[in-house]
Formats: sequence, C-alpha cells, structure tokens
Amino acid sequence: MKIRIENLNHIYNPGNPFEIKALDDINLEIDKGEFVGLIGHTGSGKSTLIQHLNGLLKATSGKIFIGDTEITKKDTKFKKIRQRVGLVFQYPEHQLFEETVCKDIAFGPKNLGLSEEEIEIRIKESMEVVGLNYEEVKDRSPFELSGGQRRRVAIAGVLAMKPDILILDEPTAGLDPRGRDEILGQIKSLYEKYKITIILVSHSMEDIAKLVNKLIVMHKGRISMVDGPRAIFKRVEELENIGLGIPQITYLMRELKKRGKDIKDDVLTVEEAEEELLKYLRSKNDA
Ligand code: ADP
Ligand code: MG
Repeated sequence: MKIRIENLNHIYNPGNPFEIKALDDINLEIDKGEFVGLIGHTGSGKSTLIQHLNGLLKATSGKIFIGDTEITKKDTKFKKIRQRVGLVFQYPEHQLFEETVCKDIAFGPKNLGLSEEEIEIRIKESMEVVGLNYEEVKDRSPFELSGGQRRRVAIAGVLAMKPDILILDEPTAGLDPRGRDEILGQIKSLYEKYKITIILVSHSMEDIAKLVNKLIVMHKGRISMVDGPRAIFKRVEELENIGLGIPQITYLMRELKKRGKDIKDDVLTVEEAEEELLKYLRSKNDA
C-alpha cells in the first residue's frame, strides 16, 4: 500500500501562547515495499509525522492517503487502518501491561477476532522474528525480562497484527551497542523476509544509513531531502548545518579522497570501505 501525504500541516496548541508548528507543508510519497529511514535532529517533527499515518494525531490541514483510502476524512474507520499501519512507539516497552509475554503479544490479534489457533501461530512467528525463544519466554512476565527483551516483546505485538506498513520510532533508543545491532539486524531480516513497507525513524545516520533504500531528512517540521543514502551523503555540509552527520566510515573515505587517493567516497559500511581500500592498494602495487 502506497502512502501519499499532501500539504500536511500540524500545529500543537493552536491559538495559545504555546502554539508550535510541528509540521510545515509536508509532501511525500512512500511506495509499497520501500524501506525508508526518516531522519532528523530531535524536535524536527519525525514523531509528529508518523503519528498521523495511523490517525493518532489529526492533521491541522492537508491530506493523507493509505492506499486508496484518505484517512484525513472525518468519518475514517481507524480500526482497519491501525491493523494495516503498525506503529511501534519510542520506548514501546513502557506500554506492556499483560501478565505474560504471550498475552501481551496476543492482545492486538485478539481484538481482530482471530481464532485461538491463528493467534498462537502469529505469536510464535512474531517472537521468532524478534529473536525471542517461544518456549522459554511465553509464560514469563514481561517485567522479569531485560529492557532489550521487553522492547522485542512490544515489537512482536505489533508484528502479530501483520501490518502492511511497519513504522518504528527510534527503536534503538537507550539500548547498548549490542542491543542496538540486534534490533537493527532483526528489522533488516524482517524486511528481507516479508518485504513490507518499513519506516525506520532515527536521529542517527550511523544506525540507518546501511539498512534503508531511501532517506527522508526532516528539519524544523519540513522535509529537506529525499534520496538514496549515497546521494544524501554527498551533501555533508547541508547535513551538518541541520545537526546531522554522515557515518564515521564515510567521513574517513571522503578525507582520503580529498588527499588525492583514487577511491570511491560514498561507502556506507566498514565492509564496503575495506573492499574499496584493498582495491586501491592492489592497484598501487600493480603500478
Ligand atoms: P522528533 O520526533 O523529530 O524529535 P517531535 O515530532 O516530537 O520531533 O516534535 C516536533 C516539535 O513539536 C517539537 O518542537 C516539539 O517540542 C513539539 N511537540 C511534540 N509533541 C508535542 C505535544 N504533545 N505538545 C506540544 N508540542 C509538541
Ligand atoms: Mg521523536
């Protein structure tokens, strides 16, 4: 399902001294099956934007289409939309409330009125995707688990709805580097397996650049760039001006190129850099 946003504006506290224009004329299309990174400095409007995509926030003006359905219409039925557009909040583990992991993940599917068998299958599947061992964890209280595990339970709960569009708001916030890599790895495999549309929100280029096909950069409530990560990374000065950088490894390669080394400088990962540097060294040896 395609997402189309037309002239979307959002004003918090309109008409009082705390009025803030959080979204300023957003126009955007995200195709079915795209894996996009939504990036921007804290306060740029990322969370506000994504909460419009399943109707948690109401547009001040503008239109949003999910597939053929305009969800900014007054009479929109959000139950259906929320099943299709799965939203994982920042720190989603704070919203766990059932006494067992199993019941927590089952909460959404139960509301869909699915059979016990189907719910069981979905719990197993979504726990597997997020790397939780079903037998070991299913009857435990979410509150006995580690922070990282709790977060995975919360993500599994959204996955169990089988959304067509999955939105994750800063899913690595507050995790240590290992927890961060694990979650990002699971999101990557999830995308490779199901090819659903994924919107990954982050304020760290380091985290998302190597995963996504497309980056949407936000600044002060507006979209400032939309392009592939490599193309975006060529605009370093602009990015730095809005409080973002590029991955460390990309900086290194740019610096080497500036010093006259004949290498590609738009690499995204350490592996790509290694390959490029080896190629460069070999060519020097041959010369
Ligand atoms: P991000 O997710 O990129 O950090 P947000 O969408 O949370 O940005 O915030 C965008 C702007 O809207 C910020 O100036 C923020 O202070 C403001 N804002 C966010 N939520 C609220 C709210 N519930 N009430 C008032 N202002 C808000
Ligand atoms: Mg946010």
